[in-house]
Amino acid sequence: MELKYTRKNVYKEADGKQLKAIYKYAEGYKKFLDESKTERGAAHAAERLAIEHGYKPFSFAEKLKAGDKRYFINRQKNVFLIKVGSENVEEHGVRIMVAHVDSPRLDIKPNPVYEESGLCYLKTHYYGGVKKYQWTALPLALHGVVMLPDGKSVEVCVGEDDNDPIFYITDILPHLGREQAAKPLGTAIPGESLNAVIGALPAVDDEEEKETVKAAILKLLNKKYGLTEIDFQCSELCLVPAGKARDVGFDGALIASYGHDDKVCAYPEMTALFESENSPHTIISVFSDKEEVGSDGTTGAQSRIICDVIDTIANSFGANPIIVRYNSKCISADVTAGFDPEFASVFEKRNTTYINCGAAISKYTGSGGKGGSNDANAEYVGWLRDIFDKNGVYWQMGELGAIDAGGGGTVAKFIANLGIDTIDVGVPVLSMHAPYELISKADVYSLYQACLAFCK
Ligand code: MN
Ligand code: MN
Repeated sequence: MELKYTRKNVYKEADGKQLKAIYKYAEGYKKFLDESKTERGAAHAAERLAIEHGYKPFSFAEKLKAGDKRYFINRQKNVFLIKVGSENVEEHGVRIMVAHVDSPRLDIKPNPVYEESGLCYLKTHYYGGVKKYQWTALPLALHGVVMLPDGKSVEVCVGEDDNDPIFYITDILPHLGREQAAKPLGTAIPGESLNAVIGALPAVDDEEEKETVKAAILKLLNKKYGLTEIDFQCSELCLVPAGKARDVGFDGALIASYGHDDKVCAYPEMTALFESENSPHTIISVFSDKEEVGSDGTTGAQSRIICDVIDTIANSFGANPIIVRYNSKCISADVTAGFDPEFASVFEKRNTTYINCGAAISKYTGSGGKGGSNDANAEYVGWLRDIFDKNGVYWQMGELGAIDAGGGGTVAKFIANLGIDTIDVGVPVLSMHAPYELISKADVYSLYQACLAFCK
């Protein structure tokens, strides 16, 4: 019996076969990342994969039975994958895994297009917790949907193909940046200055003298998408970093990408569900939207819809939904801040999670004395520990940073508020919420193993 606890490095423990499995799994994950720049992209990808795995559309009016596999895409942005098991749902509840598929980005304002000094711009409104200075001087891609009159819609994706143009937010050159450099990081780039250049070619044949570049861009947009300026008011468009997920380091042990938070948890929970066909449990895998702005609205984790889905399952079997929820268990699969030796002071090194050391459990999150946190019950943590250990899952436990450094939350509390035992299990991330975030292939694979164990 080991008296002393020592955190294990997955790469040190893994044999050749395991290492191969870790690297192979990462290839599938990177492909999913590249398809899932926005929650709509992730929902598309999930729908496609679910259909490939024999899932059929879900209906609230349906009576489900054991063996059924259903997918429900709520308003193009929020995904429920449901696998109905053979065991009694009232007695055993359901197993729920929730990750979010929205990531910090720059949303486009309702009246976004303007021209200034011969350049045409799009005005943005940043979404979620971004460090604004990180979003200038890098290639940006435009994603989303625009509603045209009469219910027609058009999908937009510009900047991901090598032949596409990209969009660009300027910054001050260092030669003239003396005043800017003296400002605190948080105020050096004001939100209202995050305007992206979208054109520079004036319409020479235009009779109007003003805004000739804007006129030319509107003409281009009308030709390509059939849209007029007012249609931006009925759109959901955003700018995200252009480009694909990339291996990092000579050994390729890490992956840098936009949007690891929280696709790095969405992919493991989904793939684990697909691998759990023969599990007796009823399992729900949820891709949630709006986590980065508080989980409100029809597609966020605070929506009643998650309850409605559980109730639909309960009603299918004539079970009491209250008892089903009470006996259910949830993994809130979200990222946490991995220890960064370059910024060691914001962590408490004995109670943080480390890159390469496996799935990261956060018993609680919150800030200012666990404020606003789901603090999982010891009994539930113990139950999960046993499951992970019996299945050889590499896991570690830590807090999100040092006590007074700040803090953060996840969807865990919203699921727990339904009376469902919930705990955060995710992946440690470096540079979280940056345009490019960093994770370990060993950790995303460990979370996949953890989700498999939870579904088993
Ligand atoms: Mn997150
Ligand atoms: Mn986040």
